[in-house]
Amino acid sequence: MRLILLGAPGSGKGTQAQKIQENFNLVHISTGEIIRENLKNKTQTGLLAESIINKGDLLPDELVVEMVKDILSKQEVKDNFVLDGFPRTIKQAEALDKITQIDKVIFIDVNFDYTKDRILKRRTCPLCKKTYSDTLVCPNCNVTLIMRSDDNEETINSRFKVYEEQTKPLVNYYKQKNLLYKVDGSKTIEQVYKQIEFILNEGKV
Ligand SMILES: [Zn+2]
Repeated sequence: MRLILLGAPGSGKGTQAQKIQENFNLVHISTGEIIRENLKNKTQTGLLAESIINKGDLLPDELVVEMVKDILSKQEVKDNFVLDGFPRTIKQAEALDKITQIDKVIFIDVNFDYTKDRILKRRTCPLCKKTYSDTLVCPNCNVTLIMRSDDNEETINSRFKVYEEQTKPLVNYYKQKNLLYKVDGSKTIEQVYKQIEFILNEGKV
């Protein structure tokens, strides 16, 4: 199965992608995670990306497409993946169409105020990397959770503006290709996942 998860920042797509990966045996490709790794390791790509991300802007399409193309060329990945955070622009989507054929696109629908609040409460465990929104200490590792440096109000507003302008048009792009499945993202993690599971197992919503 070749999947795309689409949704605004804070829609919970990372969490859902993890669950899909575990239950459907797909490779979770998170471009955000790949970029953060590059930033941390100060690679050439990372240094280039850093200034752009700090402004809340999107990375150049070519740079991200190359990164994804690399991963999708691997034998164990190419027909078995869930993309999280890519594509983010129509241009990226068109480039992806040339690389592979997508089976389904899941769009997690949520409103801005709801997700903004969710992002501001979001904390990540530095050890197990799990994300929480209702505690300040990881229940598994017993260490203090940390906030992602790009999770502040100013950056969030800027990320939403970019999302509305550049990523939201993808909903129609995939609707026209008959690949789009919409789920209600304002429900609990479990309820959202149930909707996704249903779609992946068969029916259209
Ligand atoms: Zn932990």
